[in-house]
Amino acid sequence: MSGTLYNFNAGPSILPKEVFEQASAAILNFQDTGLSILEYGHRTPAFEAVMEEARQLIKELMQLDADHEVLFLHGGATTQFMQVPVNLLPDDGLASYTETGTWANKAIKEAKLYGHVEIAGSSRDTNFTSIPKQLTVSPTAAYLHITTNETIAGTQWHQLPYDCGVPLVADMSSDVLSRVLDFNKFDLIYAGAQKNIGAAGVNLVVINKNILNKTGRKIPTILDYQNHIKEGSMLNTPPVFAVYVCMLTLRWLKAQGGVAGIEMINDQKASLLYDTLDAIPLFNKPIAKEDRSKMNVVFTMNDPALEKEFLDLCKQENMIGVKGHRSVGGFRVSLYNAMPLSGVEAITQLIKTFATKKG
Ligand SMILES: *Cc1c(COP(=O)(O)O)cnc(C)c1O
Repeated sequence: MSGTLYNFNAGPSILPKEVFEQASAAILNFQDTGLSILEYGHRTPAFEAVMEEARQLIKELMQLDADHEVLFLHGGATTQFMQVPVNLLPDDGLASYTETGTWANKAIKEAKLYGHVEIAGSSRDTNFTSIPKQLTVSPTAAYLHITTNETIAGTQWHQLPYDCGVPLVADMSSDVLSRVLDFNKFDLIYAGAQKNIGAAGVNLVVINKNILNKTGRKIPTILDYQNHIKEGSMLNTPPVFAVYVCMLTLRWLKAQGGVAGIEMINDQKASLLYDTLDAIPLFNKPIAKEDRSKMNVVFTMNDPALEKEFLDLCKQENMIGVKGHRSVGGFRVSLYNAMPLSGVEAITQLIKTFATKKG
């Protein structure tokens, strides 16, 4: 493969090149030990320092208060769809969920296995091309769950329901650490690592420890957040290499000026791409303007017959991962933290060239 390659995949997705370089060096020789990180013990000062630095960097980047604990846990966000209600929702209790698309619905399905679920707000009536503006949350609900960025639909919450009156839980898998939020207003945040944080196989979980231990349920050891907190996120063998990649990516993020620094670049990237698409009638932009995702830009072609031609051009120009999710069709361009502005300039150039050719 020659020439610059641009990876717009929705996940697993692009990470900074220096992270790939540092991670591959550690596979051959971890911190001059002569051992690969893949064969290195997790209960060693060197790895404990990696875990500690990763947790510390999250606290720093999110500016978390002392009540919020940081964990790196096995499994993807899909595991958290289940682990959240197991820890927070009593058998006869009620949880409030927002229904914003595929990912929210997967979370709702798991919660229903453990208690009652109400829908606080839904965008089903717009075929998930918007974010619900009015929420009705029962004051007795154990928590309100939102999906801050719907990776498949291409929507994102820009007005966060901080004052919903009950603990706030968020699936932030595809926009975590991409923009400044009041992270302490969330009582639980979870995110699969493979979009904005690092390698697949590990979840970031941030919890306000005051909301735990209220269900009266017997929880299996590995599923109980309290055990993981007690053991400093080292209850059992963590996904050592995945955590290492997260730590490297978090170091990189800090060097970009942290969350505020990356948000400025992310805003530029999203504006450039959306402005370009808005100026071209050839493309259909289905998402309500105020709810557009800055991470996953979803669009289609008004003439579906041209879609293949556009994808062929992307392929020819080494633009990877532009095809939309099979449930939505069209195109999806993911602009995660590690995608440089130059990548977005390249694809907007391609879009303009295509549009000119098609007149
Ligand atoms: C990717 C994604 C998931 C699923 O993550 P897995 O790690 O594959 O379980 C869940 N929620 C959102 C918002 C996602 O983007």
